[in-house]
Amino acid sequence: MQTKKIPSYLDINRIQFERRIKEAYEILLSCRLCPHKCGINRIAGEKGKCRSTAQPMVSSFNAHYGEEPPLSGSSGSGTIFFTNCTLRCLFCQNYPISQLGNGNPVTISELAEMMLSLQKRGCHNVNFVSPTHFVPQIIDALAQAKEKGLSIPLVYNTGGYESVSTLKLLDGIVDIYMPDAKYTDDEMAQKYSGATDYFSILKKALREMQRQVGDLKLDEDGIAISGLIIRHLILPDNLAGTARILPWIAKNISQNAYISLMSQYFPAHQAMNHPQLSRGITRKEYQEARAILRSCGLENGWLQQ
Ligand code: SF4
Repeated sequence: MQTKKIPSYLDINRIQFERRIKEAYEILLSCRLCPHKCGINRIAGEKGKCRSTAQPMVSSFNAHYGEEPPLSGSSGSGTIFFTNCTLRCLFCQNYPISQLGNGNPVTISELAEMMLSLQKRGCHNVNFVSPTHFVPQIIDALAQAKEKGLSIPLVYNTGGYESVSTLKLLDGIVDIYMPDAKYTDDEMAQKYSGATDYFSILKKALREMQRQVGDLKLDEDGIAISGLIIRHLILPDNLAGTARILPWIAKNISQNAYISLMSQYFPAHQAMNHPQLSRGITRKEYQEARAILRSCGLENGWLQQ
């Protein structure tokens, strides 16, 4: 029996890459890459809710040491921050990049060179931050980078608002999925992140990610090689639905799921204009979230303060 290569994209040949790249770019002609399904022609320069044409834009790329421990390791996670976002989170801590459009247009070759340069620096992985609206361009650049020797795992670091059809294009390409699980209340998701039907979309996306990569696997040094990590940012007044999402994950995704429970919320961007979002979380809210995590038996992951 042939063993699967790690990272998984090493198993994809040039013809298979070409087929996926073609299929992915065709979606941009009437864009439905994400659940917003704007239906505009990004190849012709039109912009939908993500305010992006077909030209990829990057804000920065660098070794990042503040990601979850198996991603950052000792040499850093190789983050590439894409400009713009499919979500409109009023409290986004990266809002100059995600909402204000900070960044520069790059060519596909330049994107491929960024991946290679992160590998050269010794990063454990290439970590695509807010990649959803540039999936075709990422696959295109990856094919070039692979030809030139890229061989570290890929992390897909997303807000969790993903179409299953787009995720399927990444099957066998992405090794580590790291989605947020932001809300269970669709009204809150619409109000604070501009996302319709967030929870039902998130549930389908998490199931597809788990189907593709399964539980997180680490190498002998504790570095992530494949699998799913779910981030959950605790919001004030239980706006993030912690008491609902964690039991759902335990029951429907995996009892072994790795959860990154984050308590560092602070009111950034436009949050101060919304009373419910205008404060950090209390110690009591944090302890309650931890108790929920314990009570549903999710023992893998990290508590970030
Ligand atoms: S990727 Fe952008 S243009 Fe395409 S459907 Fe999503 S928000 Fe709309």
